[in-house]
Amino acid sequence: ATIPRFRMTVRSTAVYLTPLVTKLHKDCATPLPVLRHVADAMAADMRAGLAAEGGSDLKMILSYVDSLPTGSEKGLFYALDLGGTNFRVLRVQLGGKEERVIATEFDQVSIPKDLMFGTSEELFDFIASGLAKFAQKEGNKFHLPVGTKREIGFTFSFPVKQTSVDSGILIKWTKGFSVSGTAGRDVVACLMEAMERLGLDMRVSALVNDTVGTLAGARYWDDAVMVAVILGTGTNACYVERVDAIPKLQDHVSSSGTTIISTEWGAFSNGLPLTEFDRDMDAASINPGEQIFEKTIAGMYLGEIVRRVLLKMAEEDALFGESIPEKLATPFALGTPDLCAMQQDTSNDLQDVGSILYKAAGVESNLSARKIVVEVCDTIVKRGGRLAGAGIVGILQKMEEDSKGLIFGKKTVVAMDGGLYENYPQYRRYLREAVTELLGDDIAKNVVIEHSKDGSGIGAALLAAANSKYRDYDL
Ligand code: BGC
Ligand code: MG
Repeated sequence: ATIPRFRMTVRSTAVYLTPLVTKLHKDCATPLPVLRHVADAMAADMRAGLAAEGGSDLKMILSYVDSLPTGSEKGLFYALDLGGTNFRVLRVQLGGKEERVIATEFDQVSIPKDLMFGTSEELFDFIASGLAKFAQKEGNKFHLPVGTKREIGFTFSFPVKQTSVDSGILIKWTKGFSVSGTAGRDVVACLMEAMERLGLDMRVSALVNDTVGTLAGARYWDDAVMVAVILGTGTNACYVERVDAIPKLQDHVSSSGTTIISTEWGAFSNGLPLTEFDRDMDAASINPGEQIFEKTIAGMYLGEIVRRVLLKMAEEDALFGESIPEKLATPFALGTPDLCAMQQDTSNDLQDVGSILYKAAGVESNLSARKIVVEVCDTIVKRGGRLAGAGIVGILQKMEEDSKGLIFGKKTVVAMDGGLYENYPQYRRYLREAVTELLGDDIAKNVVIEHSKDGSGIGAALLAAANSKYRDYDL
């Protein structure tokens, strides 16, 4: 895809460098030393989080996934995926080494807003009934050995303190969820209770974070996959760690000698270039002081940061004329997809920018205002993409330091998923540029960032298979 070149046009106009734009540039700048600091701090925080429980902003959560899919997984498995925006149910037919994934079917719905603010029972009833409806459609095409149940891999994309591969306690909600009664509880138990209420007899054999599901799904096809990153509504990264590099781990035995760690890097906060807009957004959020990296780089927040900047420009510089529409003053009126759509407008008069601004924020804009808006979007997206790139380098750097040459000396794949990365070409480009700036061309070319679309669903099904209770049956 070609990348629009309008920034150059923008830069040549006189109107564009207002004092507020200049200040924003300065506050959001991510020159190499800032990126380097973030990468180093990420690596240091990882170590601190591995050394002791609560040792750093990064929880460095043990997944209890010690062995990644081999390809020999067989049978019919289900996967549930509760993300930040959507809920999906999948049925995956695995055929072993030769046949691999024979078939997949899925249903997807967006999570109703009111469920994000309701009770735990309401949310899990919704999940269980989606599963029940979908499971019904299985009919009797597939053989279910006597004495077995269908097994589920449950992708739950929130910070969970795993207690085993198939159980874990929700630490806290993120991404705008504020469901009462789940934090502190085993989410598998919550799901099982909801399934019982419906009389649905299935079992959860793996509970995984979406990053872990993505890593498993990608590794099924490619042994070079060592890291998985989600850049969607929220963000997180996981990677393959050596068990002997995890001091806080005491009595855990892993036959492979490795395990997957979910960093929960969304909580990272060290040395980020933040603005008054970030601070105000954080203060107004349902989790102030938390998930600062996520609030700077992930999809849920980029649009809202831009809206706050534009509101200030409207108030102080009359960017959109004398009056300020209510919409522009409404939190989350502008979404990250709006920013993305505006940044794809390459026309001379920025027609699309104008109509998106009108639709989303209720403002009328002239050409110079539109140029400023595009510049603001670009500034926030550039900062986000570059910081995400620095985070990835931080993880790789930590792995490289421990294994000398095993990461940078050969091809290493970072499996990536999430709507922000998938749909926003400028964001992708800024992320990649930061990785290359930090590592240099020679090393950077060994680091392959591969989009693994919806990999976490299949990954969770694979992990359900790998951890099946019915391994002795002919599934
Ligand atoms: C959650 C993570 C999740 C990430 C991506 C974050 O808000 O804390 O657990 O992996 O979003 O979905
Ligand atoms: Mg997801």
